[in-house]
Amino acid sequence: MRLVSCARCHTQFDLSRFHGAGFDCYCGARVQSQVPQYQEVPVERCSSCGASIGQDAAECPFCRSAVVTDERRRSLICPDCCARNVDGARFCNHCGVPFRPQPIWDEGDRIPCPGCSGKTRPRSISEILVHECGQCEGLWVPLGSLEKLVRKACHALSNQDESPDCSFRTPFPRMVIYRKCPVCKKHMERTNYDHRSGVIIDRCHADGTFLDVDELQAIVAYAYTRDPEQGDPYEDMLGKERMRAESRSAAHLRIMKKQSAEPRTLTGQATSFDFSSIGNLLDHLIDHFR
Ligand SMILES: [Zn+2]
Ligand SMILES: [Zn+2]
Ligand SMILES: [Zn+2]
Ligand SMILES: [Zn+2]
Ligand SMILES: [Zn+2]
Repeated sequence: MRLVSCARCHTQFDLSRFHGAGFDCYCGARVQSQVPQYQEVPVERCSSCGASIGQDAAECPFCRSAVVTDERRRSLICPDCCARNVDGARFCNHCGVPFRPQPIWDEGDRIPCPGCSGKTRPRSISEILVHECGQCEGLWVPLGSLEKLVRKACHALSNQDESPDCSFRTPFPRMVIYRKCPVCKKHMERTNYDHRSGVIIDRCHADGTFLDVDELQAIVAYAYTRDPEQGDPYEDMLGKERMRAESRSAAHLRIMKKQSAEPRTLTGQATSFDFSSIGNLLDHLIDHFR
């Protein structure tokens, strides 16, 4: 990886496949495509778990990862403190910052938000690409990625020592609106995730799923506490759900004609491009427990 970070908000980007001189960060600040010059600083943290370790430690006392001292393998330069790190490091071995680059996007990558008038921006949550709206905090999750996200989050939760906090609030039922898919522009289907979760999501069977703020939390909480006797929700969802989709969408179409699709009232306007809490929660979980 060739990392740079934004001087204003510290969002990291990987320049490995980017060739321009600079680009705009999500926060609006300009980022120059220049990797900082490395500095010789002591190894003080584990690059696998981020824990503080002794300067001469050969391995991490917490996760037992070996400390790499071979300079030839330390080609990743921390954009915050300029320490040299192993290329696959997850945390800087000097300052402990997690290496979590976000996609570099241009205007063309900005999918319109199906939930409001805002625009989304790509975001990587544990290497899964999603599109997050800076205004309503909704998430557009491309086809196939929701299941991966939920699985990763559940796996991360199950590796936690303390019992996880599953008290996420179930989203308040909103007015029934059939939203349009941001990719194919057709009306999306409203689906009860896994039939019994009570979380109603907007899904285009060709392109992906739109989740309102807090719906990913609600889904993860549901999936994590779900009774395993009831079968695998993902197989369930992909198989049976698709079969039911056709008859359902025909019914939806009839209902839609009777309904006036009024736009959803936003409860608050986002003032900055801070990442949504669910993204941060998942990042945190998956980083520490994968
Ligand atoms: Zn920034
Ligand atoms: Zn460690
Ligand atoms: Zn560092
Ligand atoms: Zn939005
Ligand atoms: Zn679509």
